[in-house]
Amino acid sequence: MGGFKRSQIDATERTRRVERLGGVQDQGADIFCWCNRCGHNTVMSAATLILRLGAAFPVPEVGTRMRCQACGSRDVATRPAWPAPPPVTRHD
Ligand SMILES: [Zn+2]
Repeated sequence: MGGFKRSQIDATERTRRVERLGGVQDQGADIFCWCNRCGHNTVMSAATLILRLGAAFPVPEVGTRMRCQACGSRDVATRPAWPAPPPVTRHD
């Protein structure tokens, strides 16, 4: 009987460890793309990427499907681009 609960926990763990396109879109964010070779960067719509790659596609792997528009490098890093920075914590 314990198998179902265990698989639920595993699924939660995976979701927490790796952001997926669907989760990023659900939180109103897009995908920030950065070229490791020339520093060119852009923000791509999560919705557009979901149409191409699917909602379950892991955000860190989106870059493996991209080519830099500026220098042609395939060494592109991707991460969620949150719409607003987190609140600044006061230190005093
Ligand atoms: Zn580049």
